[in-house]
Amino acid sequence: MSSVQRGKKGERPMADASARLSVSPLPVGLAAADPAGVGDLGVAPAPRRRARPPRHLADLDPAARRAAATELGQPAYRADQLARHYFARLTDDPADMTDLPAVARAELAAALLPPLLAAEREQDCDGGTTRKTLWRALDGALVESVLMRYPDRVTLCVSSQAGCGMACPFCATGQAGLTRNLSAAEIVAQVVAGARAMASGVVPGGPGRVSNVVFMGMGEPLANYPNVLSAVRRITEPVPDGIGISQRSLTVSTVGLVPAVRKLAAEGLSVRLAVSLHAPDDELRDELVPVNRRWPVAEVLAAAFDYAAATGRRISIEYAMIRAVNDQAWRAELLADLLAGRLAHVNLIPLNPTPGSRWTASDPDIADEFRHRLAARGVPVTVRDTRGREIDGACGQLAATARRA
Ligand code: SAH
Repeated sequence: MSSVQRGKKGERPMADASARLSVSPLPVGLAAADPAGVGDLGVAPAPRRRARPPRHLADLDPAARRAAATELGQPAYRADQLARHYFARLTDDPADMTDLPAVARAELAAALLPPLLAAEREQDCDGGTTRKTLWRALDGALVESVLMRYPDRVTLCVSSQAGCGMACPFCATGQAGLTRNLSAAEIVAQVVAGARAMASGVVPGGPGRVSNVVFMGMGEPLANYPNVLSAVRRITEPVPDGIGISQRSLTVSTVGLVPAVRKLAAEGLSVRLAVSLHAPDDELRDELVPVNRRWPVAEVLAAAFDYAAATGRRISIEYAMIRAVNDQAWRAELLADLLAGRLAHVNLIPLNPTPGSRWTASDPDIADEFRHRLAARGVPVTVRDTRGREIDGACGQLAATARRA
C-alpha cells in the first residue's frame, strides 16, 4: 500500500486560487502539474503495480461482447446468452447454461465470466438485514460491499477502488491509501452478488431484489472514471444487457473532483450525485477533504449545481457531523447561504469514529440545532441512519483488512 501524505490545517494561504495548484501535499493520485498523463479529469490513474484483473463480460458493452464471442469462434448471440445468465439469472456457472452447447460452455465461461472476487468473510447485523462482505480479488486486493435491507428498499453500497487516495483523515478507507482501481466487472460483481443474496432468500424478509446502488464504499468513484462509468451502464442497462436497476436509483458519491463531475453531467445519465462536503468553508474543508486544496468549495458547488441543472436531479450534500469541528451554528448558517434555493438536499451523517481517531460524533442536541438551522432556511435536510456500525460497515468504516477475521 502506498503511504498517504496528510495535509495540516493552515498549511497555506487561501487567497490565490492559482497558488493552490502548486501546494503540496496533495492526496495520492493528485499531481500538482500534469506531466504523467493526468488527463482531462485532473486525476492520475492508479499505479500499475498490480496485474489487471482478467477481461470479463461485464467490462464490455453489448457490441464488444458479441465481438468477443466471435473471436472465440462462437456465434455473436452466445454473448447475449451469457449476458442473460450473468445479469438476469445471476449465474456464472457453466453447468447452469443448458441453452449453450455443452462443449462451448466451459470455454465461453472461462473466457468471459472468470471469477473475479471471492467472498473472504461475511458479517451481518440489524437482525441479518445489514450484511457486509469482504472480497478478495485475484491479486489479493481486498474490498468490501454492504447490503442494507429496509422496509421499502434494498441498498447495496459498493466499492470502486481498493483503498482510496483522497486521504480524508476521518475516513477509515482514506487511512491506508490507494491500492488500485477496480475494473468495471469487479464493481458489477459486487452488485450481482448482492442481487444473488437477495434472490436466494438468505436475507430476512424473503426473496427480493436490490433496488438501489450507492458508490459509497471504498474508493473515490470519480478517480476511477472510465471503469465506474462502464459499471454504471452495466448496472443500469435493462436486462439482459445489464442488471436493470434504474439510473435514478443509483448514486455516485464524490469528494468533488470538479472536471469529472462536469464530465459526468455531460453523459446524459440520470444518476444521483452526492458531494461529500463536510465543511462550508475552505479553511476547514482543506483539512477534512484534502482535495479541496485543488478544487475549493465554490468550484465544487458550482459544478454540482450545474450537474443538477443538466440532469434535473437534486444533488445530495453529505456532511459528517464531527463534534466541535464542523458542527457550529455559524457553519450551519454558512452552509445554508450556499445551498438555499438550490436543487440540493443535505444528508447529515453522525461521524463514525475510526480507530484511533481524535474526532467523535457531534452531540445529538448540537446536531439537531444544525439540522434546524438548515431547515429554517428552507434547505431540505435529513439525518442518515448509521446501519452496520457493529460490523464496521457504516459510512467511512470500510477498511478491508483481513486481520480481524
Ligand atoms: N469517496 C467518495 C465515496 C466514499 S465515502 C466520497 O467521499 O464521497 C461515502 C461517504 O461516507 C462520504 O460522504 C464520506 O465522506 C463519508 N464518510 C467517510 N468516513 C466517514 C466517517 N468516519 N463517518 C461518517 N461518514 C464518513
